[in-house]
Amino acid sequence: MELLKIRGNTYYFDNPTIVGLYHFEDDGVCLVDTGLDDDGARKILRLVREEGWFIKAVINTHSHADHCGGNQFIQKRSQAVFYATAVEKSYIETPSTEPHYLFGAYPPKVLRNKFLQARPSTIQEVLEPGPLTIQGETFEIVDLKGHSPGMVGVKTPDGVFFLADALIDKAITKKYGTLYHYHLKDLFRAFETLRAVEAEAFVLSHGGLVEDLEAVIAANDEALRAFNQFLVASLKVPKSKEALHREMVRAYHMKEAVSNYFLNDSLLASHLSYLIEEGDVVFRVEEGGVLYEAVAQ
Ligand SMILES: [Zn+2]
Repeated sequence: MELLKIRGNTYYFDNPTIVGLYHFEDDGVCLVDTGLDDDGARKILRLVREEGWFIKAVINTHSHADHCGGNQFIQKRSQAVFYATAVEKSYIETPSTEPHYLFGAYPPKVLRNKFLQARPSTIQEVLEPGPLTIQGETFEIVDLKGHSPGMVGVKTPDGVFFLADALIDKAITKKYGTLYHYHLKDLFRAFETLRAVEAEAFVLSHGGLVEDLEAVIAANDEALRAFNQFLVASLKVPKSKEALHREMVRAYHMKEAVSNYFLNDSLLASHLSYLIEEGDVVFRVEEGGVLYEAVAQ
């Protein structure tokens, strides 16, 4: 792992989930997320200390384990103040909520793995969208909920915007078709928000620095709308979510084990919820099953 400069006092660690860093005059730093686990967090802490710096603050964009899984390690070894929105704070402090909602009840051990359930940590400060002052310097917190219930983007005082998982890299959109989300309508709103953000540079948590933001937004938007169209076409014949899931796996060439089966099923549920709210799909309970069906246009 390396610490790479973006501009001014803003850097990032090229961790599998990118971790942002802002360096203050007194050699304190503010991290944006902490990566997946203790191993990554240990390297981050070592690299920060090698520079002669110390961790003063951590802003968590959201509660997914690959973004806050290093919190506990850093919390135990620093005086850092941790920030997150109220809803993401509740997930970060009670991380079993994530495999709980994916499974629908207390999840079996195989779903309580580090990719779905981070170690718990404590959030001291609740974030609200708008300016956030840390040590006299102003960050901008931007509401980007949709991928998760309370995700935010973070603009550093240098104008570098960490947009977390609001967008995925065009190459990933092409390969997988779509990425996990919780509330599709909010995600579409987040795309509009991003179009209005003024920044010197944009950074994806998975994909790094963005060259052409509008092209990435368009690719994500197109992939999600194509996925909706695929579902509506498939639901001309009423079917269960399980039958639809099988079709999705075939059409999108998904390879699934237990964890990503449940993640993909949750993604499918987010699309179905959107289509039901938009009036494109209806559902009914019939003989111990739920059938979804497209509304004839
Ligand atoms: Zn995420």
